[in-house]
Amino acid sequence: MPGYTEITPSAEIEIQLHGGRAKCLQRLLRLDMPVPKTLGLAFDAVHSIAAGHLPDTAAMMAEFGEDPIVSVRPSSEDPDWGGPGAILNIGMNDAHHAKIAKEVGKEAADALYLRFIQAYAIHVARLDPDEFEVVDTNASDALEQVLQAYEDETDERFPQDPAQQLSEVLRSMARAWEGTTARILRQAKGAPADAGLGLVVQKMALGVGAGESGSGVIQFISEITGERTVKGRYLSQSQGRDALIDGEGALFLTKDDRGPSMEERCQACFADLIEYGVACRTRLREEMQIEFTIENGALCILDAVRVPRSSRAAVRVAVSMANEGIITHEEALMRVEPRALTELLHKQVDWKGTRDVALKGIAASPGAAQGRIVFSAIAAQASDARGEPCVLVRRETAPEDIRGMHSASAVLTERGGMSSHAAVIARGLGLPCIVGARGMILNTRDKILKTLDGRIFKEGDIVTIDGSTGEVLVGAVNLLEPALDGVFQTLLSWADDIRDIGVRANADTPDDAQTARNFAAQGIGLCRTEHMFFEDDRLTVMREMIFADSPEDRAAALERLLPMQRADFTRLFEIMQGQPVCIRLFDPPLHEFLPHSREGMRELAGALDLPLSDVTRRVEALAEFNPMLGMRGVRLGITVPEIYDMQVRAIFEATIEASRNGAPIVPEIMIPLVSAKREVELVKTRIEAVAAAVRTIEGVEFDYRLGVMVETPRAALRASDIASCSSFLSFGTNDLTQMTYGLSRDDAGRFMGDYVQQGVFPEDPFHMLDTEGVGELLMIGAERGREANPDVVLSICGEHGGNPESIAFCRSAGFDYVSCSPFRVPVARLAAAQLVIQEQTVSDKD
Ligand code: PEP
Ligand code: MG
Repeated sequence: MPGYTEITPSAEIEIQLHGGRAKCLQRLLRLDMPVPKTLGLAFDAVHSIAAGHLPDTAAMMAEFGEDPIVSVRPSSEDPDWGGPGAILNIGMNDAHHAKIAKEVGKEAADALYLRFIQAYAIHVARLDPDEFEVVDTNASDALEQVLQAYEDETDERFPQDPAQQLSEVLRSMARAWEGTTARILRQAKGAPADAGLGLVVQKMALGVGAGESGSGVIQFISEITGERTVKGRYLSQSQGRDALIDGEGALFLTKDDRGPSMEERCQACFADLIEYGVACRTRLREEMQIEFTIENGALCILDAVRVPRSSRAAVRVAVSMANEGIITHEEALMRVEPRALTELLHKQVDWKGTRDVALKGIAASPGAAQGRIVFSAIAAQASDARGEPCVLVRRETAPEDIRGMHSASAVLTERGGMSSHAAVIARGLGLPCIVGARGMILNTRDKILKTLDGRIFKEGDIVTIDGSTGEVLVGAVNLLEPALDGVFQTLLSWADDIRDIGVRANADTPDDAQTARNFAAQGIGLCRTEHMFFEDDRLTVMREMIFADSPEDRAAALERLLPMQRADFTRLFEIMQGQPVCIRLFDPPLHEFLPHSREGMRELAGALDLPLSDVTRRVEALAEFNPMLGMRGVRLGITVPEIYDMQVRAIFEATIEASRNGAPIVPEIMIPLVSAKREVELVKTRIEAVAAAVRTIEGVEFDYRLGVMVETPRAALRASDIASCSSFLSFGTNDLTQMTYGLSRDDAGRFMGDYVQQGVFPEDPFHMLDTEGVGELLMIGAERGREANPDVVLSICGEHGGNPESIAFCRSAGFDYVSCSPFRVPVARLAAAQLVIQEQTVSDKD
């Protein structure tokens, strides 16, 4: 066994054995492209090389004829896993140099030899790059300089034997792949620990010399938009990718007013390249970037790689190929990474620009925005009123910051995790957000933000928040606009034809509901009604209600809130046009609605005409040690039932109102934080009474469905009891995760980084559903719930609902739908379709 295989159209070359590049070269040969002779080394051969067992490199060189010059390139299974850089011109030595100099001139010979010595010295002999990179390659004695530098550094002459040169190159590449850093890097990109490396050894087409010679790169789409266009450069007397690096002197490919083009200078070669592009598209079924060389007028194709592309381009290419019948709709759907769709919905930092990263935190809500730093919600509102975009920076946000968040173009918090207040609200608003920023030192009193490395930002300084990467960038960097075009809609409509799990949106406001509709959500799976009470005109009434001394006073305040809530619900029903709307009854502790600062309390005392001491006392009396585990959710519904009474009355009246002008509405009412059946029974009885009263007063019939939010471990365990009196169960995995782990969703960000880094948790469980622990509770809840009530509708409405892995879990557990923030609806639609296609592919193989 020679340990290598010549790549020919019929050779046994496989991606899993020889890597993607070797396979691609074979495919190019099968398309009759002029690929120079190439040998492929399989993964096991390269592995043996790393262990010191080299193939017969003299025989390999002999395969390429007399005086061969070759290149070696990596060929990993997936090109994204990387690999050592290519090394060109192996075989160049003094004798060869003299021969080429005689044939095509000293300059060309020098360039070839010089490139090889530099690459060999740095990447193979591992000498100090500074000694070799500083040489002025245009100097007439550059070659002598690097040869001398090599001798000085190694005390040896530069190796002259081509076979030895090849051996050393192969050995260094094989070892580089096995190194720890390379392994960690590729594993981070999804490569298995034992991923193999193939190598391809190819006869060089020189690109320098007599006649028209040079090299270039061509592709047939824009990597940013995916539109069809010929892009690339060609540089006479060059090799590799020089045409792209060295802008000077490179020709445009197509005719161009700005200067000479390859289309004019090398007409025939250009025409061939265009034809090869079409062949790649139609027969390899991919948009490829082709690396080519022209040697004395003859075209050689050295390599082709899938054009690296933005998500927007990926969607356009997939859809247009499916429209042309080159690939199926299913293949088009599988070619787009669901998470990448979020890039299309928001502005993005231009990935070609430079990034000066000041801080890094949890990427809590995608997209990018920039503005002046403000440190309070009030300052954000003022900035908005002046028409100045701002970034709201807080230690963490609370419900009272909501209006400030509405006014800000992005949010940055020192604390918090994926399901903390700032993260949840920002995702709902489609606002870029970073939480749990590491090394951020906030001084809100002096309005200063410091970083660990000593940078200081003052109020008014401009920063860019990249909510997709979690990076805070200094200044206003270039942003790319969102791209929600017809192509995007087409892809998602194909996804809807295929998927078998519903996708709803979590939407609290008419704006959210409109976004949900725009993204074709199949209804609202969670409307958090408490957010409606933070509007300016309502907060005071709400506080009056909280402060009421007697049931009569409370009833009076609620009476004023009722028409506001009714209007909210009517609007939601109208926007959703008959699609299901699931309204969750009031959930947070009442304390969240009260001011926390002395100044706020003084204002409230004025508004309610009470002594300040009264207000302070009442606020203190309502404080809890552990509010998230205290008087909230259904516990409030049972102890202060008038709030739920008012809410369900508003829901029923809105139902009647909205049904008058459109399809009959069947609202879904959801009770939060349940842990016992009796809680449901008590609330249910009161809801039935309100429904009966509204029916009598209005003289109109209506239906509704009553369900329970399963977000305490006990509710999951007792799902059988609970489902017997509920028509649906919706798993609130934010609280369920918090309570299963006993881990505060608002504070976990502080140490989550350490926990994940040290492998305690594979991922932040607020970000990625913990399928083992929380997942087991979901399975138990679903199973027991369904056993007691086979018609019970099952869903998830925690933040995990928009996460492809969680959707897979929910689908396998037989859930009816997932509900996620509106901007994640497209991701969920595509991810759900991919699950069906994957399953079909597996069953086709069986
Ligand atoms: C949950 O707990 O998962 C949930 C959706 O409710 P919230 O985030 O409002 O507590
Ligand atoms: Mg909850």
